[in-house]
Amino acid sequence: MIQPQQRLYDELPELTELERLIDEGKQYMSVRVPVHIERQRVPLPFYVLEMGNTAPDTPVLILVGGVHGVERIGTQVILAFLRTLIRRLHWDPLMQDALNNLHLLIVPMVNPGGMAANSRCNLRGVDLMRNAPVEAEGRTPWLVGGHRISPLLPWYRGAAGAGLEPESQALSDAVLKTIANKRFSISLDCHSGFGTRDRLWFPYARSTHPWEGIGTAHSMTELFENSFPQHRDMYLFEPQAHSYTTNGDLWDYLYDRYRSQQPQGQFIPVTLEMGSWLWVKKNPRHLFRYHKLFNPVLPHRQQRILRRHLILFEFLLSATRTMPQWVPASAAEQQVAMESALRRWYSDAPLKLTTSL
Ligand SMILES: [Zn+2]
Repeated sequence: MIQPQQRLYDELPELTELERLIDEGKQYMSVRVPVHIERQRVPLPFYVLEMGNTAPDTPVLILVGGVHGVERIGTQVILAFLRTLIRRLHWDPLMQDALNNLHLLIVPMVNPGGMAANSRCNLRGVDLMRNAPVEAEGRTPWLVGGHRISPLLPWYRGAAGAGLEPESQALSDAVLKTIANKRFSISLDCHSGFGTRDRLWFPYARSTHPWEGIGTAHSMTELFENSFPQHRDMYLFEPQAHSYTTNGDLWDYLYDRYRSQQPQGQFIPVTLEMGSWLWVKKNPRHLFRYHKLFNPVLPHRQQRILRRHLILFEFLLSATRTMPQWVPASAAEQQVAMESALRRWYSDAPLKLTTSL
């Protein structure tokens, strides 16, 4: 007879692979499981991994995946990076040096219950990226922007006043505890399912007005595009609200919480939104299989996607550890960066800055 534990792990090859990597790289990381998510009486672990130098003045890179259970490719790209990182740490002094100067926080599978159930939401029907206590300015797209109608409909925020779901709370605690006293941080949260291009989204999800950190985000964009001209067209860097606005975005919430404690701190939350509609376009039959809308199905395509984003992770390793050097520091530098960002992203929009207050 197949045990429930075994059956759940069969549904979650990503969890099997994560635990294998934790075992392979255990000398390089500390591992915590702040919460378990129970599915069919089996507790699924919510893993938090920490690597590198945790000293107070070390910049932090945060990698997050699997917030939406159906978007497995987000977890898979993080595991692909982690696999390469661990194996290079065995022999490559460049990688060892990178981690000596960087604090790495990895939460590769935020919603293990949803992933096992092949659902975007968690097992209580709540969309973890609509669950934070953040209200959008103006109208959001119907349902997609987050609603409180019913957990039976996608994009459900949870009941008013119900607080964060256990997965959102555990992610929030891990992020805020790590960056609370840090001056420099970048996060990358990996998703799939919107549009035909790979996008890198900056805050805010709640407002179409320019985010106060948009100048710093522009400096980071230029750093990537100048350093990797061959990959310039690979990502569309832009504020999320250029695509749509939402209520309850967890990164809006975490950014605001951080800045209220660290007004001088620099935190760039980035969302990677992999353009999976392109995969559907290449094979329209996938329209009839829900999870295939969000994940590459053919092995060669999956390999290509895992390979493709390794460059982004490499870039983020270097860009995070060198933030103290390239983030605009003086008022004059910040002004120049902000004006460049406004020219690039808001040249035809009314210019009202959105602060974290
Ligand atoms: Zn998503």
